[in-house]
Amino acid sequence: MALTNEEIRKVITPLLLSGAKMLDKHCPKCGAPLFEKDGRVFCPVCEYRSRQKKKELKGVEEALMAKLTELVNSLPEDMDELEKTLGVIERLIGVIERYKKLEGGE
Ligand SMILES: [Zn+2]
Repeated sequence: MALTNEEIRKVITPLLLSGAKMLDKHCPKCGAPLFEKDGRVFCPVCEYRSRQKKKELKGVEEALMAKLTELVNSLPEDMDELEKTLGVIERLIGVIERYKKLEGGE
């Protein structure tokens, strides 16, 4: 995916200002120029995108956790209803686990 103006403004410009060195190599993944800082060569755009994605996933996970807490705190007395609710809780936990895994990986 090509760079957006926002990424250039938010990622590339501050890096240049921070004294990082722009190399004449490009990232094979997104085409952004690679940078070197403190002996480390990296693609600032891919790192930025990965952070943004993690932030999004975290937001979804937190919303799911809130719903889960709400359900656990208001379990119905009726056995049939309770069983249904427990089924929902179980599925919700499964979904949350999947999001946690996504956050851990790239
Ligand atoms: Zn990249």
